Amino acid sequence: MDILLNPGPVNISERVRKSLLRPDICHREPEFIDLQNSVRQKILDIYSLELDWAAVLMTGSGTSAVEAMLTSMVSDNDHVLILENGVYGERMTRICEIHEITHTVLHHDWECGIDLTMLEDRLKQDISHIALVHHETTTGRLNDISKISALAHQHNVSLLLDAVSSFGAEEIRFADWNISACAATANKCLHGVPGISFAIVNREAIQQANKTNTLYLDLKTYLHQQDQGGTPFTQSIQVLYALDEALEEHSESGGWQSRRDDYRQKMQLLNSRLASLNFIPLIDPNETSCVLVTYLLPIKTDYQEFHDFLKENGFVIYSGQGELATKVFRLSLMGAVSNADIERLIDRIVEFINK
Ligand SMILES: *Cc1c(COP(=O)(O)O)cnc(C)c1O
Repeated sequence: MDILLNPGPVNISERVRKSLLRPDICHREPEFIDLQNSVRQKILDIYSLELDWAAVLMTGSGTSAVEAMLTSMVSDNDHVLILENGVYGERMTRICEIHEITHTVLHHDWECGIDLTMLEDRLKQDISHIALVHHETTTGRLNDISKISALAHQHNVSLLLDAVSSFGAEEIRFADWNISACAATANKCLHGVPGISFAIVNREAIQQANKTNTLYLDLKTYLHQQDQGGTPFTQSIQVLYALDEALEEHSESGGWQSRRDDYRQKMQLLNSRLASLNFIPLIDPNETSCVLVTYLLPIKTDYQEFHDFLKENGFVIYSGQGELATKVFRLSLMGAVSNADIERLIDRIVEFINK
C-alpha cells in the first residue's frame, strides 16, 4: 500500500481498518445511538471539554463542518471578519458570499502570517466573530491564535475556527481563545476514514444564533436531535465505527499531546534530512504546524515528474495549490507513517535528484 503524505485522507492502522467490519445497524436503533454518544463524548474528552460544549456529528467531508459552522453560529445582525492567508480562509469567504452572511475580509498573501496591526484596526468596526483557519494547510502555517484571540477578547469578539487539519494534534484552548465553534473531521489528525466531520460548539453561543438558511447544514437541528438520542439524517455508520476506534487509539496513545510529540519528532527527522539535501522550506519552520511542511521544488524540477517517480516507489506527495502549484511540494505526516517510511522516502528523493 502507498504511504500517503497528502493532508488526509491518511493511512489508517489495522485496528481502525478492522473496525469497519462491525455489524450492519440501523441509525434509528439504540446501538447506533450508543455509537454516536460514544464518539461525541470522546471528541470532547480530547480537550477536556465539559458540559457547556457539545460535539455535533455530520456526514460529509471537512468543508461541510466549516460551512455548517459559519451558517449556524451567526445571527442576522452579526458581522464576521474573515482572516485569509490561504485556500481554506478564502473558502470561508466563499461560503459567506453564498449564504449571504455579512462579512469583511482581511486578506494576506499565502506566505504571510496574520498582520496583527491590521487586524486591530479592522476590529474597530462592529465585528461579532472572527472566522479563521488554525493550521492553514495551503502552506503548513500554524496561525498564532493566542495573539489573535487576545485582540478579539478586547473587542468582545468570538472565534469560529477551522481546525480541520489541526484538531487532535495541536493545542486548542477553547475557553481562553473565546471560541464559539470549531470545525474538524475524522480523517486528518484523528486517523479515521473520510465521511464524517463535526463541529464543537459552545452551547450558549449556538443558542444565541438565530440565522437559519440551510436545511442539511443546520447545526442546531443536529445538536437538538443528537442530544435527544437521535439523528436528523442517515449517518455514515461504518465511518463512525472507524472514528470511534481511532479516538480510542488516540486516547490510549496519550491524547493530542502525544500525537503532537509524535508528529514533531517525525517532522524533525524529515526537515533535518531535507535540509542536508539543500531543500528550502517555504515558510519559517518556527511558524509551521507539526502536521505538514511545504518545500520549494529544486530549480528545474517538474512537480509531476517528481510526484510520479515517488508514486512509483510507493509514496504519494502533495502539490501546491493555485500559484504555488509549479513552485512547491507538500508533505504531511498525519496517519500511520513511521520513521522508517521517512528514511525510505529520503532515499528515493536522493535517487531522483541523482537521476
Ligand atoms: C482538509 C481541510 C478542509 C476540508 O477539506 P475536505 O476536502 O472538505 O475534507 C478544510 N480546512 C482545512 C484547513 C483543511 O486542511
